[in-house]
Amino acid sequence: MHPFAYVAPSTVAEAVAVLDKHGDRARPLAGGTDLLVKARANVWELDAVVDIKNIPELMKLSVSNDGLSIGAGVPCYQIYDNSQIAAEYPGIVDGASIIGGIQIQSRAGVGGNLCNAAPSGDGICPLIIHSAVAKIASTGGTREVAVEDFCTGPSRTVLKAGELLVSIEVPKPAANSGAAYTRFIPRNEMDIAVAGVGVFVQLDASGKNFVSARIALASVGPVPILAKEAGNSLAGKPVNDETIATAAALAKAAASPITDMRGTIEQRKTLVEVLTGRMIKQAVERARG
Ligand SMILES: Cc1cc2nc3c(=O)[nH]c(=O)nc-3n(C[C@H](O)[C@H](O)[C@H](O)COP(=O)(O)OP(=O)(O)OC[C@H]3O[C@@H](n4cnc5c(N)ncnc54)[C@H](O)[C@@H]3O)c2cc1C
Repeated sequence: MHPFAYVAPSTVAEAVAVLDKHGDRARPLAGGTDLLVKARANVWELDAVVDIKNIPELMKLSVSNDGLSIGAGVPCYQIYDNSQIAAEYPGIVDGASIIGGIQIQSRAGVGGNLCNAAPSGDGICPLIIHSAVAKIASTGGTREVAVEDFCTGPSRTVLKAGELLVSIEVPKPAANSGAAYTRFIPRNEMDIAVAGVGVFVQLDASGKNFVSARIALASVGPVPILAKEAGNSLAGKPVNDETIATAAALAKAAASPITDMRGTIEQRKTLVEVLTGRMIKQAVERARG
C-alpha cells in the first residue's frame, strides 16, 4: 500500500484546499469502509486521505419542515435510529439499515455509498426516489446535482478532482406519500445486491389513486437507474394489480443488467419485475399510514 498523509481538517474550506492541492492523488475519507479496501488493493495511489468526520457541517443530520439534510459523513445508524426520519423517509431508512452489519453502519454513511458509486449501492436508489440533491463544494464554490445524475459509471461520479460532497438534501415528502427499498441477495445479510428496487409513491387523499411515483433500480446497469417511464405510468391511475403490474413490467424493461457471478441477465430482470411489484405495494401501505 502506498504511504499517504492523513489529514483531518475541521472546515470545508480546509478540506477542499487539501483536495485541490493534491488533485486525484487525494480522496475524502468518510467511514472508510470502501476507501480503505480499495486503497489496500492499490486501486489508487494516494498521497493524502482527507478525513471528513471532524467537519461539523459534514456530520450534521437535520430533519425539519424544509426536508432532510444528511451530512456527507453521517453514519447509517444515526439515520435509522432517528424516529422522525424513519416515519417520513422510510425508503432511506430501508437502505441505510442494510448497508453491511452494525460495525459497518457505525462508520459508513449514505454519502460514502453515493460517492463510491457502486451500481449495487443500497443507499443510492432510496435517495433517487426521494428526489435528493447532492451539495458539492470546491475551492471554486458550491454546486448542486440531482442524485439521479450523480453516478456516471461503476465507481465514477460527476465529482471532479478537488470536489467534496458536503451533504445530501432531501425535500419533505408530500402528504399521503410512502417509500420502500429492498434488494435480493442470496444470503440473509452482508451481501451485494443481485438486484435492488426503490419505490416512492404519492397517493391522493382517498388513498386509492396514485398522484405520482418514482422507481429506481440497483445492480441492473452501470449506474443506479431512475426508471422514469415505470414511475410515470402510475401517475393518475388507480392503485390496483393491473397498474402495478404495468409499472413492474416497465421497470423490468428499463433494467439493463449483465450476467456475472452473482446472477444472470434473465434472473436480474425477473427480480426487478417481482421486487418492483412488492415495493409499490409496500410504499402504498406506508403512504396509507
Ligand atoms: C463488510 C462490508 C459490507 C458491506 N456491505 C454493503 C452493503 O450491504 N451494501 C452496500 O451498498 N455497500 C456495502 N459495503 C460497502 C460500503 O460499506 C458502503 O458503500 C458504504 O456506504 C461506504 O460509506 P463510507 O462512509 O465507508 O465511504 P468511504 O469508504 O469513506 O468512501 C467511499 C468513496 O467515496 C469517497 N468519498 C467519501 N466521502 C466523500 C465526500 N464527502 N466527498 C467526495 N467523495 C467522498 C471516498 O474517497 C471513496 O472513494 C460493504 C462494505 C464492507 C467492508
